[in-house]
Amino acid sequence: MELHNDGAEVYVPDGSPVDVALSRTTHLCVSAHQDDIEIMAYHGILECFGRSEKGFTGVTVTNGSGSPRDGLYGSYTDEEMQVVRRKEQKKAAFIGEYSAHVFLDYSSSAVKDPANTHVVEDLERIIVASKPQVIYTHNLADKHDTHVATALRAIRALRELPCDSRPQHLYGCEVWRNLDWLNDNDKFVFNVEAHENLAMALVGVFDSQVSGGKRYDLATMGRRRANATYLAAHGVDESTSLIFGIDLTPLVEDEQLDVGEYVDGFIRRFAKEVSSRIAKLS
Ligand SMILES: [Zn+2]
Repeated sequence: MELHNDGAEVYVPDGSPVDVALSRTTHLCVSAHQDDIEIMAYHGILECFGRSEKGFTGVTVTNGSGSPRDGLYGSYTDEEMQVVRRKEQKKAAFIGEYSAHVFLDYSSSAVKDPANTHVVEDLERIIVASKPQVIYTHNLADKHDTHVATALRAIRALRELPCDSRPQHLYGCEVWRNLDWLNDNDKFVFNVEAHENLAMALVGVFDSQVSGGKRYDLATMGRRRANATYLAAHGVDESTSLIFGIDLTPLVEDEQLDVGEYVDGFIRRFAKEVSSRIAKLS
């Protein structure tokens, strides 16, 4: 597969040829950083785990050079962090039995630059080669610029592809901002309670982040548990672990739909629910 950056790589945990690994993909995640996939798209990993007829492929757009670091990793250079983070992502791909993991190796600034078309072109090639049914990416209300830029590049890539190369579903999921605030009928709810051990291993393997000062492992598992319990005020928990998503599929189906306007619709409906409850009870 031709990708723009010299440092780009397609890692195939089971050693199959790259074209075979990509073509068996049914679920794909386009993420900004190493570990984002394991936090936001565990549903896709779980859907494909141990299933011969399904395959999960991860795409990490950035090179991880700007990662925070502390402890064992405190003195690591940006170059050394890139090596560590790629190695950690490969460990996760192996544990999660991904069909493939694609490292695109861009700097964050390149991803955030709307004039840089290389990221979009790489994503188009990957999507054409893998033709996934479902794509997960960052939600557009995330508060990390690189995350939102990554989601926008993915949407642009999908809009530029012919309809038969587009997925049936595109979901924006939780990393830097959860989606508990969405009105319940605007939430896409993923039940991810199966294989909790696997979920913990997948978020725990990123030692440079977790022991480096950010307890993403505990926070991620805690968020899923909180989502499950706080989803319904009246009624017992129906799951022990949920991930919330925003359905972004309409943005792929209708190229004229304004991205900002579409997301504003969710925010307006949320604002209306809050204000109407206060009005009702005042
Ligand atoms: Zn991230």
